[in-house]
Amino acid sequence: MPAQVVVCYVYIMTGDEPMSEQDQRGQNEFSGGSRYDCIVVGAGHAGCEAALVAARAGLQVLVLTGSMDAIAWMPCNPAIGGPGKAQVVREVDALGGEMGLNAERALTQIKLLNTSKGRAVQSVRTQCDKWEYSASMKQVLESQSNLTLKQERVERLLTQSGHVVGVVTNYRVRYEADTVILTTGTYLGGVIHISDIAIPAGRAWDFAAVASATHSGGSASTFSASIPARRRVSTSGVWT
Ligand SMILES: Cc1cc2nc3c(=O)[nH]c(=O)nc-3n(C[C@H](O)[C@H](O)[C@H](O)COP(=O)(O)OP(=O)(O)OC[C@H]3O[C@@H](n4cnc5c(N)ncnc54)[C@H](O)[C@@H]3O)c2cc1C
Repeated sequence: MPAQVVVCYVYIMTGDEPMSEQDQRGQNEFSGGSRYDCIVVGAGHAGCEAALVAARAGLQVLVLTGSMDAIAWMPCNPAIGGPGKAQVVREVDALGGEMGLNAERALTQIKLLNTSKGRAVQSVRTQCDKWEYSASMKQVLESQSNLTLKQERVERLLTQSGHVVGVVTNYRVRYEADTVILTTGTYLGGVIHISDIAIPAGRAWDFAAVASATHSGGSASTFSASIPARRRVSTSGVWT
């Protein structure tokens, strides 16, 4: 299997080139009805935490995400914690976040790593049932007051005088809010490279979020994650 490279954008809103009202009001757009205090784009790991913090603080929150079946989805190794990451999970926990609690709800194994080494490198890691983890986090979002969860893809940000005032989705619905939090993870401008083929995708066989958001004067930078080729050695059936 040739090496895969995933390119993803991290979006930072810095510029202020306001789009004209005309540009913003596309043809045939529908109002999404009520106004929200906060819209969270993407119910991945970061999006779930952001939405829960805002809703638990009493704000009216709308979460728009690509798929209701992929909430807080772990695309590869379903581990929470481990060297370096366990510290982050503990900090999310200390701040009242959900990741640690959800990992305990969906865990198949929990272990203290590196016990033969010094305390500084010892860290807790859970292995989780990734379907259970996703379903359990979805339930937490759905049972949270002040939080509305919808399966819609954000295609455009709405701005006014350099401030983001809402979004438009793939169903041409406009949702307005005082704050928009983009937690689009590996999807925004995502590209998968397989050998010399480049496929726009946030994950294999999944959509890529268009980087139209950068129209609002923002800048973007990219990170890449490479998944090394795995090769069967001889006929022993051992994969390396
Ligand atoms: C193939 C692969 C393997 C990986 N393996 C590992 C691993 O083994 N260990 C590890 O720690 N990390 C791994 N990662 C990285 C890890 O998945 C990410 O770092 C992590 O998921 C990022 O979390 P997030 O909340 O920022 O975004 P994501 O988990 O990427 O979630 C983003 C969410 O936003 C939604 N979304 C995106 N754009 C829009 C839009 N326009 N409108 C509405 N919704 C939108 C998506 O549907 C998704 O639900 C891997 C990533 C990939 C792609």
